[in-house]
Amino acid sequence: MIEAVLVMAGLALLIGTGLLVTGARLGATGADAAVDRINQLLPQSQCAQCGYPGCRPYAAAILRDEAPINRCAPGGDPTIAALARLLQRSPQPLDTDYGTHQPARVAVIDEALCIGCARCLEVCPVDAIVGAPRFMHTVLAAQCTGCELCLPPCPVDCITLEPAGADT
Ligand code: SF4
Ligand code: SF4
Ligand code: SF4
Repeated sequence: MIEAVLVMAGLALLIGTGLLVTGARLGATGADAAVDRINQLLPQSQCAQCGYPGCRPYAAAILRDEAPINRCAPGGDPTIAALARLLQRSPQPLDTDYGTHQPARVAVIDEALCIGCARCLEVCPVDAIVGAPRFMHTVLAAQCTGCELCLPPCPVDCITLEPAGADT
C-alpha cells in the first residue's frame, strides 16, 4: 500500500514538473516573439550606443521595462515614435546622454595608409569590412551603418566617416 502511494506521488511530481517546463517554454516563446517585434523597429546598427551590446538586447531590456524607449540615437525620433505606437506609450525626446541622431554616414578607409592589421574587421558588427591580414581593407558601403566602432581600433587612423551616398 505504501509503495503504491509512493508511486502515485512520484507520478504526480513528474507530471507537475512537465507542466511547469511546458509553461516556462510557452512563456519564453511569447517573450521571444515580443522581443522580435520590438527588435524589428530598431535600426540594426548593433552600435551599442543605447548601453546594450546590440539591438536585440536593448529590445529585451525594453520589454522587461529595464530601459526606456528613447535611447537609440541612430533610430532617433522615428524609432521612438514606432516603439511608442507598438508599446502604447507616450513618445519621449531622444535621451542625448546616449548620443545624438546623425545623418546617415559610412566608413571609408584610406587604402594608401591601411596596413592590413585587420583590427577593424574584428569589431565590425555587420561584416561591412572586407580584407585579409597584411592586405589593405575596404568597406562595403551598402552594409556599413556608420556605427563608428571600427575607428578606435585602427592604429593608423585611416578610417573616416563620410555622408552616405557621397561618391567615395
Ligand atoms: S543604439 Fe540603436 S542601433 Fe545601436 S545597438 Fe542600440 S538599438 Fe541598436
Ligand atoms: S565599417 Fe565601421 S562604421 Fe561601418 S558598420 Fe562596420 S564598424 Fe560600423
Ligand atoms: S584597422 Fe586600420 S590599418 Fe588595420 S586593417 Fe583596418 S583600416 Fe587598415
